[in-house]
Amino acid sequence: MSKIYSYVAGEFQTGSGDPVPLWNPTTEETCAEAFLGGFSASSVLQHARTEGLNSLASMGFADRAALLKKMAAVLHEHRDALIETSIVNGGTTRGGAKFDIDGASGTLAAYASMAKNWGASQHRVDGDSVELSRGARLLGKHSYVPRGGVAVLINAFNFPAWGFAEKAASALLAGMPVILKPATLTSLTAAKMAEILVESGVMPAGTFSMILGSVTELLDQLGPRDFVSFTGSQKTGGIVRSSESLIRNSVSVNVEADSLNAAVLGGDLTADADCYQLFLRDVFREMTEKTGQKCTATRRLIVPESMVETVATDLKERLQALKVGDPSLSDVRMGPLATAQQRDDVFAGMERLGQHLERLCGENRPSELLGVEGGKGYFAGASLFLSKDEKSLEEVHREEVFGPVACILPYDGSAEQAAELVCRGEGMLVSSLYSDSRDFLREAGFGIAPMCGRVVLVDSKAEGYSLPTGMVLPQLIHGGPGRAGGGEELGGERGVHHFMHRTAFQGSRGMVERILREE
Ligand code: NAP
Repeated sequence: MSKIYSYVAGEFQTGSGDPVPLWNPTTEETCAEAFLGGFSASSVLQHARTEGLNSLASMGFADRAALLKKMAAVLHEHRDALIETSIVNGGTTRGGAKFDIDGASGTLAAYASMAKNWGASQHRVDGDSVELSRGARLLGKHSYVPRGGVAVLINAFNFPAWGFAEKAASALLAGMPVILKPATLTSLTAAKMAEILVESGVMPAGTFSMILGSVTELLDQLGPRDFVSFTGSQKTGGIVRSSESLIRNSVSVNVEADSLNAAVLGGDLTADADCYQLFLRDVFREMTEKTGQKCTATRRLIVPESMVETVATDLKERLQALKVGDPSLSDVRMGPLATAQQRDDVFAGMERLGQHLERLCGENRPSELLGVEGGKGYFAGASLFLSKDEKSLEEVHREEVFGPVACILPYDGSAEQAAELVCRGEGMLVSSLYSDSRDFLREAGFGIAPMCGRVVLVDSKAEGYSLPTGMVLPQLIHGGPGRAGGGEELGGERGVHHFMHRTAFQGSRGMVERILREE
């Protein structure tokens, strides 16, 4: 039985009190024990604020980029071990595990490559100089400078590896030591990752800590130089961002939360269009990959009334052929939900939707499961619902069902109504539009953009090179307004800026230009 521990103040801690059992969601057996606590929050902060900050302050951007490259390499080297923990503790298939683990090393590598030529500098100039006097002797210039604090990375259960790496890449580049707080019940992969990073010796002293258990005491001790980057439910995000001490101390908080992502089938498309096949392929993948436990999974399918029957039939056929069961088996395409709580929440969401929408396919617990014995496992069936009236639309938009569930919302085929329906989700991480009409894509695209972090435009020409819509890319921003938390991460260099502070420097031309030169 694996035993996992917090890593703080440069050591793995023995914890205090009884360990918390971690479960294998396929067998419902205990797969590890997590030892929480056993240290003071002030000791964690003290170590990060002294050793960690000193380590990063002695490195310029290029050195930090080299650190990210090494982190990517060691995680990749231990990929198989990480995939194994993900299958055992997360219930992911091998493909789902790779999405998380390769996503982690890929994001670190992408940031390493982006910043490798940023030199020895520790600040990043923002925009051109502004002349402030006649004759241009007085100048203003903006620059992102290190905050001089620590980054607390609170992560959701569904991406223990990528969720850490996508935040840590930007934070470490920005010069902030990171303190990871993984979701407890799937922390086996995060703990394995911590063990790999620590034992490889790549992390400079104090730059990486990991806390298993509560971070309330730690958050209370943060100050204006620190940063909290939270990923999880809208509810917990609300608790974190309204924390009295974080508000009092003006601690910057970024929240990545829920999302009712939409896929719109354009009014111009018929069943014989290549673009329609892309829609089916993407929707099927986004409903079922990681058992629908992706913040970017598609929850709402906005379909012209004339195509509802076709879409329902085609999707049902694919979903009913899906092999569900033990995710360690190579022919299984969808494993269980990650925890018993997740299963209960998804079943409750299915029941709620079922009261007002027509269930086109899927059972709460699938009757056929490959390689699973005795009714065990937190399984849920891929389920498709059809919305028929205003009351059912209200239910669709009420809250995210974080599992393999999507609802078809019929519309009149116009870009205007498509945008209106997408925006009823009140803030999305991503939504995708499928059409061969440039006018439709333009009107609907700009119509939904104010409520989306990312808009994916797919036409028939995308066949062969389009990427999965739920794949978060290090080059593009991730985050969304409203329900999605109002946060922003990644987006190439933009992601690093969030972990820095922007200052306007004002002075004589020669002085400002010399001081802000990037070496
Ligand atoms: P959650 O229950 O909100 O927990 C998220 C994290 O917050 C966990 O590490 C949790 O730790 C911690 N936490 C709980 N209470 C806290 C408190 N009072 N103060 C500080 N931290 C606290 O979410 P989840 O169930 O893990 O994740 C599922 C949700 O995350 C879904 O709603 C999904 O949409 C969202 N999500 C969003 C994104 C995105 O990028 N927008 C990505 C992935 C997931 P414990 O586990 O120890 O309770």
